[in-house]
Amino acid sequence: MLKIKDLCVKVKEKEILKNFNIEIPDGEIHVIMGPNGVGKSTLSKVIMGDPNYKITKGSIYYKDKDITSMEVDERAKMGIFMAMQNPIAIEGIKNSEFLKTALSTIEDRNVSIFEFIKMMDKSTKELEMDSNMLHRSINKGFSGGEKKKNEILQMKILKPSFLILDELDSGLDVDSLKVVCDNINDYLKEYPKTSVLIITHYSRILEYIKPDYVHAFIDGRIVKTSDLDFAYEIEKNGYAGLNVLSEKDSYE
Ligand code: ADP
Ligand code: MG
Repeated sequence: MLKIKDLCVKVKEKEILKNFNIEIPDGEIHVIMGPNGVGKSTLSKVIMGDPNYKITKGSIYYKDKDITSMEVDERAKMGIFMAMQNPIAIEGIKNSEFLKTALSTIEDRNVSIFEFIKMMDKSTKELEMDSNMLHRSINKGFSGGEKKKNEILQMKILKPSFLILDELDSGLDVDSLKVVCDNINDYLKEYPKTSVLIITHYSRILEYIKPDYVHAFIDGRIVKTSDLDFAYEIEKNGYAGLNVLSEKDSYE
């Protein structure tokens, strides 16, 4: 279970998260929808432990542990993983080298080359990826869709227990989105205790990955929580009118 309590986060002196609360139990899929610039990516980076974002108040718990001040790599070892909205390219580090090192670190063991190659072979095939991408620098010259597939390749190898998907559908064409979502659904079937936080503008991804709850995120906090139909409602009517809801309608 991930539990965020009264979290306040400032970015460049501007308050982005204002007493933000959410609880995501094991095995549940939650969606956060919110307008541009509201702080959705900020939230995912704060859960991941990005040091560029300053927490001024509140706490984050994962598996009953206070992780608010934990380093990124410790959180990753606890099973938290984020597929980034805009994956960064890293020149000079081979994709395969990075993945092997990350896996060895997270699982705290020496992963043999034989095991690793077998794993990569299977995963790249399932994602319909060109296996040449393993030998190139991380995300260097990858298309938008290839970058997103590469994020899900990392998921398949690192086997997180908490998965954050930040705008997964951006940069993916319809066919690639289906392949990627099929891979995520297979993963969730194999590891049903995995929790998922989907951040999205469009309900398109929710046609493939069915959420348990949909939250509307406006002005620093969640203002309404409902089911999948709420996502379609937001897509149709926008966010106007939602931020005037009273406290008692808000989540928690
Ligand atoms: P969303 O993902 O909901 O579109 P973001 O979390 O990316 O929004 O951004 C929230 C706000 O914080 C925006 O106004 C954005 O410009 C600002 N912001 C986010 N990250 C940074 C950063 N590293 N430096 C400066 N401003 C940032
Ligand atoms: Mg974003």
